Amino acid sequence: MTVSIDNNSGFCFGVTRAIRAAESELTKGPLFCLGDIVHNGEEVERLSRLGLETIDYDDLRTLRAGRVLFRAHGEPPSTYRIARDNGLEVIDASCPVVLQLQKRIRDTYTANPDAQIVIYGKPGHAEVIGLQGQTGNTALVVQSTADIDRLDFSRPIFLFSQTTMSVEDYQALAEAIQSRAKNEVQVHDTICRNVANRVEKLQTFARQHDLVLFVGGRKSSNAKVLFQHCLDANPNTRFISSPDEIEKEIGEEIATAKESFRKDKNCQLSIGICGATSTPLWLMETCRDSVLQLQGTK
Ligand code: SF4
Repeated sequence: MTVSIDNNSGFCFGVTRAIRAAESELTKGPLFCLGDIVHNGEEVERLSRLGLETIDYDDLRTLRAGRVLFRAHGEPPSTYRIARDNGLEVIDASCPVVLQLQKRIRDTYTANPDAQIVIYGKPGHAEVIGLQGQTGNTALVVQSTADIDRLDFSRPIFLFSQTTMSVEDYQALAEAIQSRAKNEVQVHDTICRNVANRVEKLQTFARQHDLVLFVGGRKSSNAKVLFQHCLDANPNTRFISSPDEIEKEIGEEIATAKESFRKDKNCQLSIGICGATSTPLWLMETCRDSVLQLQGTK
């Protein structure tokens, strides 16, 4: 049996940067993080053991002292206001790509007060809340072409996307809007290529293995999207969020592979381990070690 980890999986640049900032700030003293620093329970737990305390927006409103980290997703202006009014020190780990997108939306909104700003994304997602905040929460959020009936096609439309959406689906949405528009439509290409470029590489990796373990957090939208792409490339892909789930998911396959190997030494099972932009490398390595351990005991 061979077990390999996908070189292209794991934290994107923005998440790596936020986690490094947390680790470095934790050496100076207590630190709060507004929301889970990454949509991966195992990594949140690791940082919590180092002292990072995750708080929510209600906690932030009542907090009167301390240091609070803003994660890679970015925050709306109202969050900065609350922190300032409450005398909190902000460690801003918003991803520079997200900050740039926030600025583009803010500038467009400021220059076109009557504009209809439309954001393609997941309603309620932290990044989307930060983007909407740049427009005084007037931007419309659409999740699919089924939502575009809410748009006023007689007015100019300025379309932006949450950074982690699918490029193909965004193009389809833009075309659907353009086909119905009676006025100007500006489509801004704002999908982060740190994520988009991974799809092809991930699918190539998935096709190279008999069995694929996709490691991701159950709350991560990026994990859901990338898992689906993996599954499309290799139907024998399983989603796991921790090494504890490995035996249940692939224990039988490993036992069968060992049995086949006993009869025919040419019979091999190749297992690929990959993950989302929110999956830490150490977690994929732990999963690999668990698979190898299972192979030894089965
Ligand atoms: S996916 Fe892109 S925009 Fe989002 S945090 Fe990572 S690098 Fe930044």
